[in-house]
Amino acid sequence: MVPSPFMSAATQHPFFLKLENTQATGAFKLRGALNAVASLPSDARGVVCCSTGNHGRGVAYAAAQRGLRAVICMSNLVPQAKVDGIRALGAEVRIEGVSQDYALAAAQRLVQAEGLIDISPFDDPLVIAGQGTIGLEMLSAQPDLQHLLVPLSGGGLAAGVACAAKAINPKIKVTGITMDRGAAMDASIRAGRPIIVPEFPSLADSLGGGIGMENQLSFPMCRDLLDDVILVTEEEIYHAMQVLYYEDRIVAEGACVVGMAACLSGKITPQGPTATIITGRNVDMYQFTQVITGQDIELGEYTVKGQPYAQPIA
Ligand SMILES: *Cc1c(COP(=O)(O)O)cnc(C)c1O
Repeated sequence: MVPSPFMSAATQHPFFLKLENTQATGAFKLRGALNAVASLPSDARGVVCCSTGNHGRGVAYAAAQRGLRAVICMSNLVPQAKVDGIRALGAEVRIEGVSQDYALAAAQRLVQAEGLIDISPFDDPLVIAGQGTIGLEMLSAQPDLQHLLVPLSGGGLAAGVACAAKAINPKIKVTGITMDRGAAMDASIRAGRPIIVPEFPSLADSLGGGIGMENQLSFPMCRDLLDDVILVTEEEIYHAMQVLYYEDRIVAEGACVVGMAACLSGKITPQGPTATIITGRNVDMYQFTQVITGQDIELGEYTVKGQPYAQPIA
């Protein structure tokens, strides 16, 4: 975990970045995947999962270490860079449909048809525990943290981090942050049950996808352990990607900067030492270059208007 002088000045409180972009597979999801694959029975035939890219890469890496077959199901919203990274680890890739829901259904069919073991990207106790080790490390590095800002999609990360952090310090505040278009966990918490929301292309592509209608763990844990959920716009994500690059010199995915975006837009006002998780670096470098040079970004029907980087505070 490293301090961010820029974000500390902007929020007027010590502000830290937990750098999961430095993981071997480029994202924190390796933690949960390694924990789940390490716990498989010795006669396991292979594993299957659905993924927005980073979980698949973690599972592919962990399966390769055990010499197991891995099949990764993804939708056509997943950037090519992520698909290529998974193939390079020797896993089989299936591209299924226009959203994560189709990829999930495909993974479930392979469990039936080929006897593979499904590893959920977020709704699995071993995956949640693996991601939770991030919370342990953050609080051992900075025991006085008062507020954790956690990127939120299916909620495995937020569930694990909140569970670990609140076990150590019950008073710590944990906020989940996600993009405002297709925020499935937010909509589900407000509805009181898992619901399906439409999925859109986003700068934070790793935060896409639903939470699963049969969600057992990450939904109730996020509902009960998160103090709140905050939504940010594509424009706020765009600007925060520029801030992380120009001020902290870090190349990372749009999904990583939602916590910074929420602070910079005034949607979150830190009240003490705060940290966020830079969850991964597996960004499409062509799109990333467009963002940091201030070009317009086409996200399907939606265009994020480009703007060259300018400091938001004097
Ligand atoms: C998966 C992922 C998230 C969100 O994690 P969930 O457990 O699905 O909430 C955030 N950032 C990146 C880079 C991811 O790959």
